[in-house]
Amino acid sequence: MISAKNIHKSYGNVQVLKGVDIHVEKGSIIAIVGPSGAGKTTLLHILGTLDLPDKETKETLRINQQSILNLSDKELSKFRNQHIGFIFQFHQLLPEFTALENVCIPGFIANRNRKEVEKEAHKLLDFLGLSHRIHHKPNELSGGEQQRVAVARALINNPAVIFADEPSGNLDSEAARNLHQLFFDLRDQFGQTFVIVTHNKELAQMADKIFEMKDGIIINNEK
Ligand code: ADP
Repeated sequence: MISAKNIHKSYGNVQVLKGVDIHVEKGSIIAIVGPSGAGKTTLLHILGTLDLPDKETKETLRINQQSILNLSDKELSKFRNQHIGFIFQFHQLLPEFTALENVCIPGFIANRNRKEVEKEAHKLLDFLGLSHRIHHKPNELSGGEQQRVAVARALINNPAVIFADEPSGNLDSEAARNLHQLFFDLRDQFGQTFVIVTHNKELAQMADKIFEMKDGIIINNEK
């Protein structure tokens, strides 16, 4: 599903990633853990094609059998829209749109049939227990509900992989537990692949694999 080799990244003269190799199997949930500043978010952004690794080394990044590093900006945006979903710590839903509209937007960007996207969005919001909330705007929803809308938005184009950066970092423990359970339900029922940066020990322990980072490298690769 994902194969990344020899990933380096520097900002100015600060080396943030110093040669990371990572392999993610389809239908698995991967946790990336480690202290603040270790490079976790930087790595997630590169794996998620939001940022590029440094060019000087023999690096490779393949997602869903597609080699990413030689795509043009336009090809990359299209690939991202069609194959990758994102969930952030702060849901980043658009405040002026309803839950249903927020979920539909990536489908409209992909130029899919409007009716089909809306039908799929209803189905997803229903699956996530939000059918009574579809016409509410984000500020009328609880933190847990907002994050579930963000999960539905990440799923709308049936992505190969979902990247999540501290998805439960802003939730109380019950909402966090529900969100984590949802990830595992999606893995079990649909074979959904997740790569999740988290400080949440419970989530990391449940994951199929844990990559522990420190100072820009992976120091431990458990399970
Ligand atoms: P983590 O997610 O493990 O906390 P990050 O990947 O966010 O770590 O950051 C790793 C290091 O890279 C930090 O020292 C951070 O200050 C630095 N860094 C991250 N992004 C940038 C950037 N855009 N410009 C400069 N430095 C950055």
